[in-house]
Amino acid sequence: MRKPVIAIDGYSSTGKSSISKVIAKKLGLVHMDTGALYRGVTYFANTHYSNHNGEPDLEQLVKNLGKIKLEFRKEHDDLVLYLNGEDVSKAIRTNEVSQNVSLVAAKKEVRDFLMETQRSIADKGGVIMDGRDIGTVVLPHADFKFFLTASTDERAKRRFLELKGLGIETDIDTVRNNLLTRDKIDSERDVAPLKKADDAILIDNTTLDKNQTIELIVSYLKDF
Ligand code: C5P
Repeated sequence: MRKPVIAIDGYSSTGKSSISKVIAKKLGLVHMDTGALYRGVTYFANTHYSNHNGEPDLEQLVKNLGKIKLEFRKEHDDLVLYLNGEDVSKAIRTNEVSQNVSLVAAKKEVRDFLMETQRSIADKGGVIMDGRDIGTVVLPHADFKFFLTASTDERAKRRFLELKGLGIETDIDTVRNNLLTRDKIDSERDVAPLKKADDAILIDNTTLDKNQTIELIVSYLKDF
């Protein structure tokens, strides 16, 4: 029997990736965190094409996209992101990457470059993919689409705790400002902006914890 293709989009730090990971395990699906791909490209740009302001030179990046090889490798039940053979799973979560990722992700060339990697994984079904434009652009024919949102304070708290857990030093105001800036750039860009697909189910999880959000999503999947 064919397994479903599920798109989970939404604002930063609504728990999209951690929730998708659990649902994938529960239902035997492959999970792809597409934000990690954009972060991987940004880490590459920061490392190789950073200008004196610490911002990536986007023109140089676009010319050199062919030098980037991103792959997820399965390690201890987790998918770990490798960039040109290097494990970058922690490096892509730093503030330096978070600060620049939305500028990088607004470039059409970058989005086109990552499109094939994303679509090819969904060809055979049995995928849960999370991001910003999965239900609208990457997988418009997904069997199920969800759009997650939550209050800014709640999201800032969640991201702060996540970073702390990873051993990344920061403060809540930096985290909150970064979320708001990214959401603004992501929503206002010309190419594939962050927005709810017309046929996506809206979930505000401000007052729901991770397990409650998972249960709610799974309750919609029962009919497949
Ligand atoms: O999901 P995460 O917060 O790690 O994503 C980081 C950034 O990558 C987002 O703020 C957005 O700029 C970009 N992104 C995107 N489209 C996706 C996934 C992420 O533009 N499908």
